[in-house]
Amino acid sequence: MRVLGIETSCDDTGIAVYDSADGFLSHLRFSQALHLEYGGVVPELASRDHIRKTLPLVRKVLGPDHAGSRPGKIDGVAYTAGPGLAGALLVGAAIGRSLAHAWKIPAIGVHHMEGHLLSPMLEAERPEFPFLALLTSGGHTLLAHVEAIGEYRILGESVDDAAGEAFDKSAKLLGLGYPGGPAIEQAAKNGEPGKLRFPRPMTDRPGLDFSFSGLKTACALAVAATPLTASRVADIAAEFQQAVVDTLVIKAERALAQTGLERLVVAGGVSANRLLRDRLGRLGLKHGVRCYFPRPELCTDNGAMIAYAGCMRLLAGQRDGPAFEARPRWSLTDLPQVGG
Ligand code: AMP
Ligand code: MG
Repeated sequence: MRVLGIETSCDDTGIAVYDSADGFLSHLRFSQALHLEYGGVVPELASRDHIRKTLPLVRKVLGPDHAGSRPGKIDGVAYTAGPGLAGALLVGAAIGRSLAHAWKIPAIGVHHMEGHLLSPMLEAERPEFPFLALLTSGGHTLLAHVEAIGEYRILGESVDDAAGEAFDKSAKLLGLGYPGGPAIEQAAKNGEPGKLRFPRPMTDRPGLDFSFSGLKTACALAVAATPLTASRVADIAAEFQQAVVDTLVIKAERALAQTGLERLVVAGGVSANRLLRDRLGRLGLKHGVRCYFPRPELCTDNGAMIAYAGCMRLLAGQRDGPAFEARPRWSLTDLPQVGG
């Protein structure tokens, strides 16, 4: 089965083709830069830009330079149905369902976070079930026990800002631009963690929930304390990155101990972070736990993970009914099982 995937939940238009026999064929992404001057995503501008970019990218991804697949060879359309920005989701849903209708093939709305947590399945070395998933993106930070596709138990999640959001907001305070994660990672290379000391939030008490808004406040206080020289910015960035990574690693280690799971899947935009990948890799070695990461370009929002998750569900016979729905809020635990 060959599936076209469409991701428009936030500020990336991601389009891809996944084939259950041939694997991941091609993906294209357009990351909206128009939010740069606002320091954050402006929902209405995001929706309008998805309208401009989605169909041209679909044409391109199906063209000879990419998947080389005609519409007639596509067996299903998967689009992100939630969670995300309502207007942005509606663009992908409307286009995805219209294409499926015109091509007389089924469509399916995919949960964005399910896409992320299955994204390591796009790589040659795929994790077997069950596994622990650490999802850390711009909108979510969570640990989940994954028994099978659609069988997710949330072990802990952020009670306020997501890790990626904290990177973005702190980068803005430091004058480092958007998106903040890569900017802070870059700036941290010239800095020294530990020159200032930021908290490792909620690690001193039991439980697997996260809280990152205090780190943003610590960053704001450090910015206000002394004039912002380049070396001061680098030291703040380094300590901020270290604090986020320490916190994620401590909670991941705790969740592994609690569940006894032997595989760890790390996904979402923040999992592109080199320090996080290295530290979790070392944690895995220490405990005999195998770690799986998507390649960095598939960590952030993309169409390939949506095509994959949709393909698995379409193969199991699931598909959209006539009702049209985008779900800005949607829990991972509300999904139907696949083949269960
Ligand atoms: P997503 O929501 O999955 O598309 O991921 C986007 C989020 O990932 C944004 O908040 C980025 O700042 C963050 N991000 C991307 N690359 C990195 C990185 N190298 N280090 C830390 N955070 C990152
Ligand atoms: Mg995402």
